[in-house]
Amino acid sequence: MVYVSDVFHKKKLDSKKINIKTIYLVDGIRYERNTDGSKDDNITNGIRVKKEYYLNNELKHTEHEFDTRIEYSFVENENSNKNYTCPNCGMTAKLKEFNGGCPYCGTYYNLDYKDKDLGSKKYYDRVLRNKSYRLISAIIDAIICFLISFIIIKNTSRTFNINDFYKIFVFGSIASLLFYYVFYIVDAYVILGPIKRYKDKQNELQKDFWKKSGLDKVTFFNNFNYEVRKYYYNKEDVIDYDIIDFDSFKDYTIKDDRYVEVEAYIRVVYFDGDFRSNFKKKIFRFKQNKNGTTKLGKGTNIMMCHNCGASIDVTKSKCDYCDSEIKYLQEWILQ
Ligand SMILES: [Zn+2]
Ligand SMILES: [Zn+2]
Repeated sequence: MVYVSDVFHKKKLDSKKINIKTIYLVDGIRYERNTDGSKDDNITNGIRVKKEYYLNNELKHTEHEFDTRIEYSFVENENSNKNYTCPNCGMTAKLKEFNGGCPYCGTYYNLDYKDKDLGSKKYYDRVLRNKSYRLISAIIDAIICFLISFIIIKNTSRTFNINDFYKIFVFGSIASLLFYYVFYIVDAYVILGPIKRYKDKQNELQKDFWKKSGLDKVTFFNNFNYEVRKYYYNKEDVIDYDIIDFDSFKDYTIKDDRYVEVEAYIRVVYFDGDFRSNFKKKIFRFKQNKNGTTKLGKGTNIMMCHNCGASIDVTKSKCDYCDSEIKYLQEWILQ
């Protein structure tokens, strides 16, 4: 059974014989979901902790970095294990066995999760994204210790020769080790203070955006992820992505069109025989869809084309039979 929000990903992974196993934590309990459907636990407000990438059932790649402020929910329809009768042709089978639609008459079911959250940022705090702080402290520590050793030795030696360089190296190294902790604490005030203040300001801006824009958070994040999934999974060499953090949100109007711009820090996983991943900042620009949206109910949604009456696949923009444009699923369309 393929859910509307998973269609693009599933198609992509099946064609490459890749399974992605994602480990979630919900209140300290471990759950997993696999893109090949081998195990799909229901998740409510879970955080991602690990992703394993399998090629032909062999583990090939692992990702560990996720943001614990971003939560996911995937609650499937209880009916998925029960028999379902196609309202169009009367065929009965377990909903689980349908591949997004009736295998006999081709009616699209447009399945949606009973409850879903494709990744919303729920909390704000001052977590630092890069872990370079310790390294920066160590470098500052070493530079200063070596410089002081150099000054002392230069001023106390009558001649300055190769032995003095050796001394500078030894004293500098010992001093660096001894004073590392001091630098670590001092840098916490000097370096971390401004970063914390900057983070607080960014968080306030994000909270402001949600208050002023009038958008519903989960609906917008689901819309965001649906569009970003479609964008990435339609790229030939991309097989997965994760939002590591949302950095900023902006909304504005140009002429009569409303836009939302989201800046996010993302990890994109590529596959071209081998797996590799890449972190980057990216700005996603969305335009509000003024033609109206198709609203999906929980579970099975059978919808008819307004022109010819054929059943429609809401992940497409046109009717398969008569080519009429159909209402789009999302309010915000990625530009
Ligand atoms: Zn049917
Ligand atoms: Zn039609």
